[in-house]
Amino acid sequence: MEAVYEICAVRYAHLYRTASHNFIGGDEHDGPMPLDYYVWTITGEGVCMLLDTGFDAATGSARGRQLVQPVEEGLREVGIDPAAVTDIIVSHMHYDHAGNHWLFPRARYHLQTEEMAHCTGSAMCHAAIRATYEAADVQAMIGKLFTGRVVYHDGTAQIAPGISVHRVGGHTRGLQVVRVHTRRGWVVLAADAAHFYANWRQRRPFPIVDSVPDYLDAFGIIESLASSPQHVIPGHDPLVLASYPPAAPGLANAVRVDLPPLRPVP
Ligand SMILES: [Zn+2]
Ligand SMILES: [Zn+2]
Repeated sequence: MEAVYEICAVRYAHLYRTASHNFIGGDEHDGPMPLDYYVWTITGEGVCMLLDTGFDAATGSARGRQLVQPVEEGLREVGIDPAAVTDIIVSHMHYDHAGNHWLFPRARYHLQTEEMAHCTGSAMCHAAIRATYEAADVQAMIGKLFTGRVVYHDGTAQIAPGISVHRVGGHTRGLQVVRVHTRRGWVVLAADAAHFYANWRQRRPFPIVDSVPDYLDAFGIIESLASSPQHVIPGHDPLVLASYPPAAPGLANAVRVDLPPLRPVP
């Protein structure tokens, strides 16, 4: 029997913006198109794992992002004690995915080798590229590396039975997506390979991009890894929170994406 896991998308922050900011070349309609910020929990089969760690209140306010609730609180609402998290997959090192680094004292961090090479390499000499990284996050990850708490992967790797990472690049050099086996089939947590359903479904890239061809190729990889388009979970789309069942009755900021959506997603 294949292992099956539960997955929660936990929203921790929000940013109002219009559509022209979310596509290369803008958007002629330019209506409201806000971003949500999530971390994802993967539990079951004795596993207590996260995808990404979000940012904290100080980083959020410095960057003008509205914290909905601290990541720690959101995790506790879905029954996760940060101290019990054993493994954290970091999709990439951008500030909104790799902060809160003191919160998980036991966790091992799973990263693509190429992502750390990128965010400590010559690309960071350019202010426009390093602006989406926090030096403190990169420094903290190097600290974890030197205490034996970082596991590097190159391309595809199995993290546990039924959980694997896949480097897709595109948005950043070493961006990885996560494939998780659930009762409804193979779910793909796309993180910033697809900020919004619209970036992916309409093949219109988000403006922060390392390689446009690699970014566009990533969509084919995601589609090949997921059981269906209804099994792909974009990284920043408010439609995820609106389309999936609450993780527990009354919870406003956490949904179960291992369960089928309540209504078809785009
Ligand atoms: Zn990113
Ligand atoms: Zn992001």
